[in-house]
Amino acid sequence: MKGFTTQIVHNDRLGTIEHGSVHKPIHTSVAYGYEDTRELAAVFQGKQSGHTYSRQINPTVDALEAKVSKMENGLKTVCFGSGMAAIGTVFFALLRAGDHVVSSAFLFGNTNSLFNSFDSQGLDISFVDATKVEAVANAITPKTKMVFVETIANPRTQVAALSEIGQLCADQGLVYIVDNTMTSPYLFQPTQVKASLVVNSLTKYIGGHGNALGGAITEMGHFDWQRFENIYPDYQNGDAQMWGITQIKKKGLRDFGASLGPESAHHISVGSETLALRLERQCANAQKLAEYLYQHAQIGQVFYPGLVDHPEHARSCDLFRHHGGVLSFELGDDVDLWDYMDKLKVVIRSTNLGDNRTLAIPVAHTIYYEMGAQRRKIMGINDSLIRVSLGIEDVDDLIEDFRQAFN
Ligand code: PLP
Repeated sequence: MKGFTTQIVHNDRLGTIEHGSVHKPIHTSVAYGYEDTRELAAVFQGKQSGHTYSRQINPTVDALEAKVSKMENGLKTVCFGSGMAAIGTVFFALLRAGDHVVSSAFLFGNTNSLFNSFDSQGLDISFVDATKVEAVANAITPKTKMVFVETIANPRTQVAALSEIGQLCADQGLVYIVDNTMTSPYLFQPTQVKASLVVNSLTKYIGGHGNALGGAITEMGHFDWQRFENIYPDYQNGDAQMWGITQIKKKGLRDFGASLGPESAHHISVGSETLALRLERQCANAQKLAEYLYQHAQIGQVFYPGLVDHPEHARSCDLFRHHGGVLSFELGDDVDLWDYMDKLKVVIRSTNLGDNRTLAIPVAHTIYYEMGAQRRKIMGINDSLIRVSLGIEDVDDLIEDFRQAFN
């Protein structure tokens, strides 16, 4: 079994098949009972594998974690209640007051907000233009522990210098975290660029149906955790490649408790079976819509890595299978944002991305409102910028919808 979809669809069968069930069943039990008390203690002490309490381990979530590891070609995955829970827990588990992080300035708004909160609580976070490796290199200090980037940035679609930053982190012994949400493991596997840990918001493309929140962190095996001074002595045993993810699971998931529920894990797991099929259609729709908007006289700039004049078009061609399912564009000065948005009939006015339905949102007034005009300007977010997450509808219906809204 080598193909991406073949592996996902059959992955549950590699473990124990319960009652011949072709889906991993939903295990709702919070607690797990043992006949033998010594066995219970051995499981708690990590001397024997088994289940203790569903805040940190659950069979349905385990099955999804195995699937995400397979998709990312990683060593081990830990799932969380949302993408934000995954990112927050990694920082909580691995960093301590005074540590410095270099982050891309082009970030999903809530990640930006979270990093500002951590900054005010004793971490030091520098935001730089991660499309240029020199900007990341110049920001590194003796206290830097980690570099954080998104593959394609939400919402302006800048593509980070992923390979060059990976090499820089390898040379300098820094943890390299790549948020793969906008590309998903079908378009790009960050192991190619030596990522240490990969973030996925499972809510988006992997789940794909807008019916469950979830997040994941996957260990790629490239980082030598013996070089990382924040690993607690309890987790400095066994294979050193696993120390980081073990601390994320134990200190992070267990202590902080941002766990994924089994029902959501089931929805995401079923959704993930069609990831490749959906993304083929979504990326083709995005490319065609971007080309349509690009030539329209009443539209300002269009941001999509599949357009030849996108600043990182060549990088996107080199790294990604396709250029993603999200684009953004600015309306011309003569078009009223609110009237235009209200006239859309097929497209839903909503946040979220990676759904089967096409969703559009005026970002400055909604998801990027709280960060204020100054920071929006630095991030290149203009008041008329509309983010579109392409669904799987027939593309002619979508283009007609964006066309008729000008009338
Ligand atoms: N990372 C990126 C790039 C995102 O776009 C999002 C959400 O839009 C998140 C993380 C957070 O994911 P969630 O909404 O599952 O918390």
